[in-house]
Amino acid sequence: MSDFWQRAFVYPFFLLLLSLLVWAVAGAMPAALFFGFGILIRLFFHLRNLAQLDHWLSNPEKLHVPEGKGLWEDAFSQLNKITRLQLKEREQHAAALLQMKQATSALPEGVAILDEADRIEWCNPLAERHFGLDGVRDRGQQITYLARQPEFVRYLAMKSFTEPLILRDTRQGDLVLSVKLIAYGDNKRLLISRDITHLERIETMRRDFVANVSHELRTPLTVVNGFVETLQDMPNLENDMSRRALQLMGEQTSRMESLVDDLLTLSRLENEQNALHEEKVDIAGLLKVLLEEGLTVSKGQHQLRLEAACKTGILGSANELHSAFGNLVTNAIRYTPPGGEIVLRWEELADGYLRFSVKDSGIGIAPQHIPRLTERFYRVDRSRSRETGGTGLGLAIVKHIAMRHQAQLDVVSEEGKGSTFSMVFPLKRRGE
Ligand code: ADP
Repeated sequence: MSDFWQRAFVYPFFLLLLSLLVWAVAGAMPAALFFGFGILIRLFFHLRNLAQLDHWLSNPEKLHVPEGKGLWEDAFSQLNKITRLQLKEREQHAAALLQMKQATSALPEGVAILDEADRIEWCNPLAERHFGLDGVRDRGQQITYLARQPEFVRYLAMKSFTEPLILRDTRQGDLVLSVKLIAYGDNKRLLISRDITHLERIETMRRDFVANVSHELRTPLTVVNGFVETLQDMPNLENDMSRRALQLMGEQTSRMESLVDDLLTLSRLENEQNALHEEKVDIAGLLKVLLEEGLTVSKGQHQLRLEAACKTGILGSANELHSAFGNLVTNAIRYTPPGGEIVLRWEELADGYLRFSVKDSGIGIAPQHIPRLTERFYRVDRSRSRETGGTGLGLAIVKHIAMRHQAQLDVVSEEGKGSTFSMVFPLKRRGE
C-alpha cells in the first residue's frame, strides 16, 4: 500500500479502535456519538484546508501557497514546488522575450510577422516607423489596409518573393524602402524592410553625374571630330605622319562618340521618368531590317539567315527593341570569324511566350564569364572588343531594354563553338 493510503487510514483506524474501546466500556450509544464526533472533527479539518486552497486559488499570483497539516501538508508542498518551478520558467521566458525584443529593436531593418491573411501579429519599432504602424493598436490589422501602395499589395499577393520590392511614396513621405517577404512556418510571413533612401540618392547622383558628363562631352567631341574630318579632306596634306595621326585621332574621337552615345542611351533607359513608349511592333518586319543592317556590318564575310517562325508582334518600344536586337546581331557578327553563320529567329514557345534569338558559330564564351556579361564595361577579351569598335556597354543596354519589357535575356554558349543570345517576352507583351 502506498505511503499516502497508509497515512490516510491512520486517523479512521485509531478512531474506530477508540470507538470500540468506548463501546466495550460505556456501551453502543456513547461509542456511536464518539465516532460521529471524530468524523465531524476530521471533516472540519478537511474543509478548513479546502477553504485555504480555495482562497489561494482566487489569486495564485499574489498569495502564498497554504502550509496545511498532515496529508494536506504534502499536497500543498507539492503545489508550492510546481508553482515555484512555473514562476521560474515564466521568468526565464520573460527574460528571453525581453532579449528578443531588445535584439529586434536593435536590428537595422524593420521586421513584422504576418499571418496567413496578412494580418500583423507583431512588428519591431523600425517596421512601425517604415510603414507608419503602431505595434499595439494595429495588431491584427491587415497590413494592406495600412500600407496601400498597389505594387506592395501585388507583391504580397505573389507566391514567390525571390526579388525584393523597392517601395517609394510610402506614408512616410520621401522614404524609399527595400521590402522582402520570407515565408516560414504554417503560412506565416516575415516582412523585412530596409531604408534605402540614402542609397537611392547616391544612385541618382551617380546616374545624373554620368548623364551630365556624357552630355557635356558630346559637343566638344563633335567639334573635334568635325575638324579632324576637315583636316583629313585637305588636299595639300602630304606628310605621311600627319595623315596617320589624323586617321588615329579620327578613330579615337569616333570611339569616344560611341561611348558617349551608349552612356546617354543607358542613362535614358535608367531614368524612371522616361516611361516606356508602347506601341504594336511588327517584329517580322523589324527582323528584315536587322538582316539588311547585319549584312552591311558583316560586309559579306558571314552567312546571315532569317527564321521567322511566327507573325505575332510585341507591345513595346520599336526604337528600343530595334536597338536591343541590333546590338545582339552586331555582337554575333563581331565575335564570329569570317565564314561563320548567324541565324536570327523569331518564334512562339509552347507556353505562348515569344522568343527572339541570335545564334552564331563564333568564338563562344567560357561559362564563368556568362553571368557577368551584362555588367557595364565587362569584356571577355578587351582587345577584340576594342578592335571591333565595342564600347563594353552593348549588353548592359540590351539587359535594360529587356527589363523595361519584362523580358528575360538568356545566354547559351560554348567556347569555340558559338553562342545563342535570346530575349523571351511574357504573354502580356504579345501584340496580336
Ligand atoms: P562589347 O562592346 O565589348 O561587345 P557588350 O556589352 O556588347 O560589349 O558585350 C560584352 C562582352 O560579351 C563582349 O566584350 C564579349 O566578350 C562578349 N560577347 C558578347 N556577345 C558575344 C558573342 N555573340 N559571342 C561571343 N562573345 C560575346
